[in-house]
Amino acid sequence: MAPYKNLEEYNIEVTNEVKDRFSRIIDEIGEDVNRDGLLKTPERAAKAMLFLTQGYKQNAEEILKGAMFKEDYDDMVIIKDIEVYSLCEHHMLPFFGKAHIAYIPNGYIVGLSKIPRIVDVFARRLQVQERLTHDILECINDTLKPQGVAVVIEASHMCMMMRGVQKQNSVTTTSGFRGQFEKIETRNEFLKLISSDLS
Ligand SMILES: [Zn+2]
Repeated sequence: MAPYKNLEEYNIEVTNEVKDRFSRIIDEIGEDVNRDGLLKTPERAAKAMLFLTQGYKQNAEEILKGAMFKEDYDDMVIIKDIEVYSLCEHHMLPFFGKAHIAYIPNGYIVGLSKIPRIVDVFARRLQVQERLTHDILECINDTLKPQGVAVVIEASHMCMMMRGVQKQNSVTTTSGFRGQFEKIETRNEFLKLISSDLS
């Protein structure tokens, strides 16, 4: 099985189980599951949920290992503004925003498209932003064994915006640093670069 693919084929048994439960939820909230507009909703919702949680079936380390190249480059590599869409594990509502990731190679670089891919692998699970940040950081650190790695995620949480405290404009920032990025100068250079429009 390919380590990364869009979930186009759904396991029929699982999809049907999830579909039946969505049907039950729609009924419990007082709607009519047999109403025209809702007829296919349980199935659509089931497929959407399975798509948004397909990361459980994917292996981020394999994705990185499949695209590592020996290279003597040892300056900072930054991939910024990576779109992040995840589901908070407390309410199963979306949180979304941007990830900025940097590493300093130690003999190996990785195909640039693989970094956003592993963000998706970890984001397409039930998450908290803190653990998502940590999962990405540790995966890059363990696999590439770089001189340093940094991950910053800025995200808005629908569970805060639509319910609860209803803080519409609050953004949560999480960050993690390993190796060279634990040094203040390197970390500051990274933070400066991700906040500039020119990098
Ligand atoms: Zn939440």
